[in-house]
Amino acid sequence: MINRFSALILALSIVLASCSREESGGATQPTEGMNSEATWAKLTPEEAIDPFTHANYNDVRVTNVDLDLEVRFDEKVLVGAAEIDFERLNAEATTLVLDANDLSISKIEAHSNDAWVEAEFSLGEDDPVIGSRLEISLPDGADRIRVTYSTSPEAEGLQWLSPEQTAGKEHPFLFSQFQPMLARSMAPLQDTPAVRMTYSARIQTPPELIALMSARQDEGGGRDGDYSFKMSQPIPSYLLAIVVGDIEFKAINDHIGVYAEDYILDASAAEFADTPAMEDANAALYGPYRWGRYDMIVLPPSFPFGGMENPRLSFLTPTLIAGDKSLTNVVAHELAHSWSGNLVTNATWRDAWLNEGFTSYVENRVMEALYGEDRAIMERALDLETLKRAVAEADRPELTALKMPADLEHPDDAFSQVSYAGGMFFLKFLEERFEREVFDAFIKGYFDHFAFQSITTEDFLVYFEDNLWTNYPNAVTKAEIDAWIFEPGLPATIGNPQSDAFDRVSAQQAAWLGAGNLDGIETSAWTTHEWLHFINTLPSDLTLENFAALDDRFALSASQNAEIAYAWYMKAIPAGYEPAFEPMDAFLMRVGRGKFIYRLYQKLVDQEKRVWAETVYERARPGYHPIAQRRIDAIFSE
Ligand SMILES: [Zn+2]
Repeated sequence: MINRFSALILALSIVLASCSREESGGATQPTEGMNSEATWAKLTPEEAIDPFTHANYNDVRVTNVDLDLEVRFDEKVLVGAAEIDFERLNAEATTLVLDANDLSISKIEAHSNDAWVEAEFSLGEDDPVIGSRLEISLPDGADRIRVTYSTSPEAEGLQWLSPEQTAGKEHPFLFSQFQPMLARSMAPLQDTPAVRMTYSARIQTPPELIALMSARQDEGGGRDGDYSFKMSQPIPSYLLAIVVGDIEFKAINDHIGVYAEDYILDASAAEFADTPAMEDANAALYGPYRWGRYDMIVLPPSFPFGGMENPRLSFLTPTLIAGDKSLTNVVAHELAHSWSGNLVTNATWRDAWLNEGFTSYVENRVMEALYGEDRAIMERALDLETLKRAVAEADRPELTALKMPADLEHPDDAFSQVSYAGGMFFLKFLEERFEREVFDAFIKGYFDHFAFQSITTEDFLVYFEDNLWTNYPNAVTKAEIDAWIFEPGLPATIGNPQSDAFDRVSAQQAAWLGAGNLDGIETSAWTTHEWLHFINTLPSDLTLENFAALDDRFALSASQNAEIAYAWYMKAIPAGYEPAFEPMDAFLMRVGRGKFIYRLYQKLVDQEKRVWAETVYERARPGYHPIAQRRIDAIFSE
């Protein structure tokens, strides 16, 4: 019931609330703000459809997959079967449509009326981006299908390493990388982040090797070549993961540990010793870790990423082992995905910032909690530089807004610094406007509310409006939010992290360049971050004498810290500083992490070092991951 007086108050408050949105905010006093109507609307299922899947997931939806696979290193294939449970959202649906990429399918059966019967299916042509459409006719009453198949030796999501490509040199190694849409090269699936499913698996390997997955491993088995796994929390398909190799384990505490090849096991456990404290910091901010164990595996150098947040088992590049914990923000990042991404998932890759921006923000908060504000500011300052560069270099302006365009060509295009650092700076902006205490409670509630769901940017905006903005309508305007989410370029409201430590580095650099004498530079207490700032801000007209002087004093060309070496090479290439090229050759042979090698090859080609770069690539290519090979092939074919 509503009387005339309260109706008047309500009308007035609507006017006030809607006016205040047009003003630049700052005040964070809670008000009785009321929305006359919603500012943003949720997308319909049709509008929210993932264009990078063939799956008919709005009609028939996969709920569980049970894999039974043999790992055959001699043929570089997985051979076996996938049993798939599904539910019919549309009672009229008569087919189940899955994604497949380079799979050889020998038989499909359907489980109906307590019996397995052969099911008709068709496997479409192999689209170069999204693979093949696998359409299966469903008999009446069928609730489960079984696909008997094998993978291809060229499966893009699987890398098969020969013994020579491992550190131990004795045994082969297999690891997967399925994000964003390569799980379909390992199993027939509805390979879209919109669909969440549980999974179980039996994996048979050569008896001397260990198999691991992004799931709970059945206890009791030793190293016997027969392993069983179960993931009972629903995950999107890109979080399926498998590793097989001669791997050792070292515990960090009772539920956190690290797997690696023997040569790097102790160094890895030491480097990642702060992981339990990272988990505590995360849980204090955003609620408990919900996945049981948290283990990490340090992969061979060809792993093309810094890390991959496979649940219960983050995959990490060995380039993080710097010896001084200076690059462990990547561990904080992958762990943070246990909340943002793995718990609350982007429904399409157009919404990748919901995964990566949130995770970058949480990562930075955890780094601040553990190592103090200075380090968090330095990391944001470095991120701002790479974000500016990503925005400047974007192929088209639509790729510089957080919500990626409807005509996104490939999901990889959504994994730029725009989603990572751009999303992080957007959330930092909100944190400052709404104030930390309020904003932290909101984000914790957001993770709870959407736990184990896949959502769009618009779902986030509606939740934001209903649960935060409506209580503090003066804090931000719609125009400010829209500029971040929907408009290209860097928003006017982006923060500008000011690092005192970086200012001191800059002052020393300026004094050196003025006086020409390196004796005034005191670097003994510099962290990796300070080194990166120093190198990144070297003037473009730095003389070869100055390059040589720095190199003589600090051995930058030979740095074993991958971030520092990379930053130095990126300066040395355009300057034509020759002494850096031999160590750079060794770096490109040793390191397969895309973040470093894509830009190095691109820089070499741009700076007329193509011939030299081609000779290195010819030798290095066999050791790179298929994902990296594809990217670098494209650089040389330009
Ligand atoms: Zn990430």
